[in-house]
Amino acid sequence: MRPVSRRNFMQGMGSVLVLPLLRTEEPETVLYNGNIWTVDENQPRAQAVAVSGGRFVAVGSNEEVLRLATARTRKIDLAFKSVLPGFNDAHAHPVQSGVEHLRKVACDKDSIEKIQAALHERAAQTPPGQWVLGFLYDDGKTPRPLNRHDLDAAVQDHPVAVQHRGGHTAFVNSLALRLAHVNDETPDPPGGRFEHDAAGHLTGFLGDAAAHVVLEVIPEKYTREDFRQGASLISKLFVSKGVTSACDADATPEAVQGYQDARDGGELGMRVYCHVSARSLDHFMAAGIHTSFGDEWVRIGGVKQYADGSISERTAWLSQPYVGIGNNYVGLQLASRDELYETGRKAYAAGWQLATHANGDLAIDRILGVYEQIQKELPKRDPRFRIEHCTLLTDTLIQRMRALQVIPAPFSCYVYFHGDVMHFYGKERTEHMFPMRSFLDAGLRPTDSSDYTASPSHPMMWLQSQLTRTDMQGNVWGANQRITLTEAIRCGTVNGAYAAFEEDRKGAIQPGHFADLVVLSLDPFKADPSELLKIQVERTMVGGIWKYQS
Ligand SMILES: [Zn+2]
Repeated sequence: MRPVSRRNFMQGMGSVLVLPLLRTEEPETVLYNGNIWTVDENQPRAQAVAVSGGRFVAVGSNEEVLRLATARTRKIDLAFKSVLPGFNDAHAHPVQSGVEHLRKVACDKDSIEKIQAALHERAAQTPPGQWVLGFLYDDGKTPRPLNRHDLDAAVQDHPVAVQHRGGHTAFVNSLALRLAHVNDETPDPPGGRFEHDAAGHLTGFLGDAAAHVVLEVIPEKYTREDFRQGASLISKLFVSKGVTSACDADATPEAVQGYQDARDGGELGMRVYCHVSARSLDHFMAAGIHTSFGDEWVRIGGVKQYADGSISERTAWLSQPYVGIGNNYVGLQLASRDELYETGRKAYAAGWQLATHANGDLAIDRILGVYEQIQKELPKRDPRFRIEHCTLLTDTLIQRMRALQVIPAPFSCYVYFHGDVMHFYGKERTEHMFPMRSFLDAGLRPTDSSDYTASPSHPMMWLQSQLTRTDMQGNVWGANQRITLTEAIRCGTVNGAYAAFEEDRKGAIQPGHFADLVVLSLDPFKADPSELLKIQVERTMVGGIWKYQS
């Protein structure tokens, strides 16, 4: 481009266009000697990229791109390392888990004794009577589940609540139950379960709404500063694994503020798309906000509702009973059809994307029915209805999703990471769970997601799990649902962007997209699928800036 042509162009178009033209001519940064997988179908492989103003301005061969560099351009030799677009964790709870990392006891340990020791240690530093709170507990990773007596033995003078990493259940001690006025005779609340032992005594395990009965009495007041720090901390953890964008799947006003504060302070390492909790919807609607409000770092997503419980905690609402639990237990419904419809229709009419948590086949059937009805009553051309998790499918449900082009946001590493609970579903049923092959074959656009804290926000683990359908112990669950590496990377990048209406600016290494990428220690296309987890993220770039370097 010659200066003269630019002047002519500017005369006709106004000076505002000069910036993109200058950017194209003079990149701030050029990365070269890369082994780049772009996820751009027009040019799948490249060696070099030029970056300016936080976006890719050129992608191509070393020769083509280096030619654009000037004396002021920073040139970085990638030493033939593999490069992928930054990953999108399309369903996680970043700021909430960030605050938990700051304030709670990490209970991701493999024995009850280690958890007791960690809680005991925290109790010793906590004034008597104040709560001791744990998170990241996974009852599939200890020889047996925690119970009230374990917690009573570890901590005497403090109420204790340890939340399952899946976020739907909790394990509490006797003092916590007393403070919540829950005893052996207390009836289960709707959508909740107080577990009892064979003698009829409470075990301390609380499912969904029953957990809320106890958790609500905790005077847990986080400050604005806590949310800022939580957003900052968690974004550092996510980018260190190669995640450059995440969807906060249940954001409160305080959470959105935390992201904004971290962004303003230059501490937010990744971009966030915030689904707003249904209980906060009216606040946002009163402010005139709807889906897509915000900027490239912090944006408002859909409205989040819950149709049922969780997979890892066995509270998903299934048409057939769980294996080995008894009493024909089929999980928990968390909202009536009317509630899902009323809130969904109100939000949809006001310009909100709908994003509903539904794991079990009955929950998915219910929310699909709601989406079908709303779309019939208020037709929109491109609604991008989302089903968060969308775990257990049937062929009929997938056909209904296809008709409406519903976006599934399934757990990406549950087969690998939560293989220890798959027996509750049974071999046959796992062939229809997280059914990536079926989704893709039906022409749907599934995303990748961790639901962190429920499972790790770790794209290499997602890829390994989806390619192998093999858990940590080597058990295979649903080999029929294996997908290819190319497909899995696409789900974790461009499909995540599509699910947030951002595919024009995010998810691929192509001119005009945000300069978000990861540099890997090894080439995933040359790795054994069962060893993808060994690949390290060496560097993560977000908006043209290295946000992580190992
Ligand atoms: Zn979630």
